[in-house]
Amino acid sequence: MALPAAGRRLLAGPLGTPAVLLAAEILRGPRTRRYLLTRVERRLRERLAHPPVPPPWRARDRERTLLALGALRSLDRTLARGTISPHVLRAIVPLWGRAGLVANRETRQGRRFAREHRAPPPWFLVLAPTQACNLRCPDCYAAAGANVHLPWPILDRVLAEARERWDARLVVLSGGEPLLYGSEGHDVLDLVARHRRFLYLMFTNGTLITPEVAQKLAVLGNLTPAISVEGDEEETDRRRGKGTFRRIQQAMAYLRTHGVPFGISVTVTRDNVGAVLSDAFLDLFFEEEGAFYGFLFHYMPIGRGPEVSQMITPQERVELWRRSWDTVEKRGIFLFDFWNSGPVVQGCLAAGREGGYLYIDWNGDVFPCVFVPYRGANVVEAYARGETLDEVWEAPLFARLRDWQRGYGYGAPTPARDGDWLRPCPMRDHHAELRELLHGLPDNSLPVPDPDVAAALDAFDAELATLTTPIWRERYLGGGGSQAEDRVRTVAP
Ligand code: SF4
Repeated sequence: MALPAAGRRLLAGPLGTPAVLLAAEILRGPRTRRYLLTRVERRLRERLAHPPVPPPWRARDRERTLLALGALRSLDRTLARGTISPHVLRAIVPLWGRAGLVANRETRQGRRFAREHRAPPPWFLVLAPTQACNLRCPDCYAAAGANVHLPWPILDRVLAEARERWDARLVVLSGGEPLLYGSEGHDVLDLVARHRRFLYLMFTNGTLITPEVAQKLAVLGNLTPAISVEGDEEETDRRRGKGTFRRIQQAMAYLRTHGVPFGISVTVTRDNVGAVLSDAFLDLFFEEEGAFYGFLFHYMPIGRGPEVSQMITPQERVELWRRSWDTVEKRGIFLFDFWNSGPVVQGCLAAGREGGYLYIDWNGDVFPCVFVPYRGANVVEAYARGETLDEVWEAPLFARLRDWQRGYGYGAPTPARDGDWLRPCPMRDHHAELRELLHGLPDNSLPVPDPDVAAALDAFDAELATLTTPIWRERYLGGGGSQAEDRVRTVAP
């Protein structure tokens, strides 16, 4: 939702931090909190009832408003339970306030980048500082396990440059297990402590979150862990190993005790698609355990032992899209589906587009996205040549993908009729186009996918298009209900 220009100027200026800190203090008091949150909620509900934007942007505006309401309700629940510490609140509210309300294209660094590169800078980075992991999930997308780390000086420089050159706001830590990172006497929390002006989201298996780690996170205040779960105890232990679920519950208890807000991250597969978002699942993680947010990632056949039979079907994908919006609306939960939320973020976020990101792994290899296993550059090699993150961003693979995104409708004044953002993904939803795009590139560290995987993705794409295109045209571009959506609802398992 757009903030008026005067409000953005206030937040970007010297009064921005005190203003947001004042909001944090207001949130701490039960009565002032109720007053503030009720007023904001009323404004958001008015927006839902009387949409201020016409089609084709109306459906996207509605989804963004529902997510804002979900975040607001989650915040209210967490504050009421007392599971967010005052220190964390004071640390995180100004960072989120600035990150969410002032675009980095508007700052000094963003303007410099745009002048030199004719495009705004990326908004975030995903870093996998280590490949090491203490679990052995059979179909891990990152093929985690080997004890390989990104050297500390490289990691440190990447973050310094992301701040100085791009004014990036968010660092997502993934892996491997980020808590196993160690280089030159530094661990991953040393990185967070050293670069305090970022927000951090850390995808973790949760099993290494001890009381000491939870306490350190509470002191830092600007990192929230997203803990991987597969469903209930049986589902989680089946994929992650016996006893994992109990250790995760213990970690969540430590985080609650120390006032660190956390979320969950779920890989949706053919095995668990029916249980994810069931009432039992939502009650367990959002009511009992007190998760603040949830991320859904559909299983992608890459990494260790790609298994196309674990991919959810096109029908299940569309049904999951419907159920996830029902959940956000009816339960008041902040839930983001990395594929089905495509319209909210205007398509694919890969390749360092505005609002998007690049992914750097433990070898320094830079990929357009966590789920696109083709490297476009290597940051260690780039630094050895005297280059910076800007030159990494310019790599031909990323430039081609950004062209593809624009051709698909990103950045256009109105969304394209054929650029269906319910199918935003070049890797999963337009795999033949991605293969085409890879041709002739100078540096791909990985071979083209297994022919069976490519064939399965092509078949998936063709069927998905028949399901989502009518919904895209009727609901998103047309601004009304969708008969196609109703048909999917009736045939889905
Ligand atoms: S490549 Fe696919 S998974 Fe990655 S950001 Fe784009 S749409 Fe999402």
